[in-house]
Amino acid sequence: MEKQAVDSARKAFLSGRSRPLPFRLQQLRSLHRLITEKEAEIAAALKQDIHRSQFDTPLFELIGLENDIKLAESSLADWAAPRPAKKNLLTLSDQVYTQAEPLGVVLIIGAWNYPWALTLQPLIGAIAAGNAAVVKPSELSKHSASLLKELLPQYLDQEMYPVVLGGVPETQELLGQRFDHVFYTGNSTVGKLVMEAAARHLTPVTLELGGKSPCYIDKDCDLSIACRRITWGKFANCGQTCIAPDYILCEPGIQDRVVEEIQRTLREFYGEDPKTSPDYGRIINQHHFDRVMALLEGSSVTVGGKNDREECYIAPTILRDVSPHARLMQEEIFGPVLPIVSVSSVDEAIRFINDREKPLALYVFSQDKKVIKRMLSETSSGGVTVNDVIMHYTINSLPFGGVGNSGMGGYHGKHTFDRLSHHRSCLIKALAMEGMNQVRYPPQNTTQLKR
Ligand code: NAD
Repeated sequence: MEKQAVDSARKAFLSGRSRPLPFRLQQLRSLHRLITEKEAEIAAALKQDIHRSQFDTPLFELIGLENDIKLAESSLADWAAPRPAKKNLLTLSDQVYTQAEPLGVVLIIGAWNYPWALTLQPLIGAIAAGNAAVVKPSELSKHSASLLKELLPQYLDQEMYPVVLGGVPETQELLGQRFDHVFYTGNSTVGKLVMEAAARHLTPVTLELGGKSPCYIDKDCDLSIACRRITWGKFANCGQTCIAPDYILCEPGIQDRVVEEIQRTLREFYGEDPKTSPDYGRIINQHHFDRVMALLEGSSVTVGGKNDREECYIAPTILRDVSPHARLMQEEIFGPVLPIVSVSSVDEAIRFINDREKPLALYVFSQDKKVIKRMLSETSSGGVTVNDVIMHYTINSLPFGGVGNSGMGGYHGKHTFDRLSHHRSCLIKALAMEGMNQVRYPPQNTTQLKR
């Protein structure tokens, strides 16, 4: 099944039909139609998978896709046009340019937390760049995966963009095949396996991974606004967002206010009992429920903590004065649990961040330009947002991706097109003016090039 899908995509690619821009534009328009016509079905699948609120489906999953499609539609001719390059003395009368060309067959492996955005956003770039693509959604968001498998062939070229369902064995089977690019979204441990498998074919990879994204709150900032924004980004999708703030760093003097403000916002967003709120999600499955609950072992909860394994429900939970050595601080939480670690100064916060793996996102809340400048220039992360969370993800002129342990290769907008294209160097000479070339031919003579 897996091999058949790859063979079909390869055959379709070799037919050459994905190369002309009108084909790519038509496929992109069709994908746009899928998203708009099937929004209700997509929302229903997400509700079953992860209790996603109706309101969050367009916001977190579909608007970004629509924006990327619209941008590709309006800019494709420009992106795909030859780019003139600077000439040297010996090529003054020639054509010198780079030309974006498709790589071939791309494997897109998606994660479960945003199953539509994480498979279709890379697919938009793959189509725009003229590639074929095999799409492997996560088996954990099973309703979304089977709906994708049902819908995609109704809208797109079936051979060019097959969907393969399955878990680890099926993905490993796919990874044994030869692709021209592997685009993986998921955790860093599997990211290493993906890279290893791709290396066997010298296939380039994009790895969109995760990690612990820190959020530093400076004492001199509007805590009410800061905490409102943090609460939104942390607890949306029940904390299962790759760029959710994983933990807070702040000075001990503001810790109580931070807890109070987040608690107040939680009540405002989700009411007295988040379990009954249509806007509050669930953990994807019991395995992940157990994983998140195990992280809490040995720590005392300040706010929240209620849970229900049957329903995969964990209430929004805050812990104060968390030790850097606590289990919670050893791995990405990926759930609705927010530890606060106290630091004595901005210097300590910077050291804390730099002592750990480079995060996917970094958040800084401050009014002090010097603090912001130091945080930006003395740390590293895939992306950074100051005085808000998540929002850098929504700007498709910015490459989205990690660095170090949080991944490699940015995408969104034109960046996806560029990642999934080969920028071929082209020199087109005429057979005339052979006299010009005398200087580079032996035997040595006096007309040779002077350095
Ligand atoms: P997951 O379990 O859905 O796995 C991701 C994909 O890898 C799936 O398609 C799955 O079938 C496949 N897979 C799993 N184990 C495999 C194996 N042993 N061999 C081959 N393939 C395998 O998702 P996950 O890893 O739980 O996702 C959560 C992680 O992803 C978090 O770390 C999160 O931060 C990160 N993430 C990153 C981004 C980003 O854009 N950078 C987005 C979402 C999630």
